[in-house]
Amino acid sequence: MRNVPSGRRTGSLDSGVALSAVADPGTRGDASSEPQVEHHFTVDVEEYFQVSAFEPYVSRADWGELQSRVAIGVHLLLALLQRHRARATFFVLGWVAERHPELIKAIADAGHEIASHGWDHCRVTDQTPDQFRSSVRKTKRVLEDLVGAPVIGFRAPSFSIVRGYEWAFDLLIEEGYCYDSSLFPIRRPGYGYPGGARDPYALCTRSGTLVEVPPATLRRWGVNLPAAGGAYFRLLPYVLARTALRDSARRGVPGTFYVHPWEVDLDQPRLPVSWSARVRHYGGLRGTMARLERLLAEFRFNSVCGAGAVARLLSQRHVAPQQGDR
Ligand SMILES: [Zn+2]
Repeated sequence: MRNVPSGRRTGSLDSGVALSAVADPGTRGDASSEPQVEHHFTVDVEEYFQVSAFEPYVSRADWGELQSRVAIGVHLLLALLQRHRARATFFVLGWVAERHPELIKAIADAGHEIASHGWDHCRVTDQTPDQFRSSVRKTKRVLEDLVGAPVIGFRAPSFSIVRGYEWAFDLLIEEGYCYDSSLFPIRRPGYGYPGGARDPYALCTRSGTLVEVPPATLRRWGVNLPAAGGAYFRLLPYVLARTALRDSARRGVPGTFYVHPWEVDLDQPRLPVSWSARVRHYGGLRGTMARLERLLAEFRFNSVCGAGAVARLLSQRHVAPQQGDR
């Protein structure tokens, strides 16, 4: 294992390689002549009580006592994906995998990709490098033992690889990960990577190359708007997600959409949390499944590995660097 200094330090990213066009003559979508690409459908597999918005209200020590609902949401999403013949990447918490091994096997058996969401939803910004390494190593091992296949993708809880925490990329590479989906190129309190590229690209670090797969954004008036997932998808007009994915397709690259099992679980317990946490977590739940049906009817989706972004970028490392706030 390579030596990575402990403590906070800025990363060693030096260049990136943008994904070249992956246009595919698909037929789905509105009847336009827009290029069709396979977008990334991704699911962060966690319990409703593990979300960062509930951190002040639900102690990790109490997690084991709360009603588990994750299987309900996951099975609803598996059925949705099956109806639309779509594949997805499921970023799974090690904590969930340890308690629901059959659920993770069922996801893999349905043809979806299993990736890592870390062990216990601890933000990267709340971890030392050693703690982070231990979390991503343990999660990878548990998931690989379950599905019998390499786990090469990672998404940080709450997109918490932010400026100053790029050391996480070196550790991910050293631990055998090939791609990351944590850099949300938006500006907002709590997370975000302003200035990050919007389309998949190769990150070159001192430890090697990692493909970055950012969540989809919509760029308007010189600003990146979060458009494709979570509360943004539930609370903002549907047209934002659709426009973001259409814009990606016009650029010939996949857009990355994300959702959580609890976002389709209407009967989850209502926890006594603040007004803002309530809006963020419970707002728009009732309409989410209908929106997902519409999205999957309008666009073609695949897993990150299935859509080919990672393999293409790893094989295109010789291409001239292109990266920035575009
Ligand atoms: Zn999460």
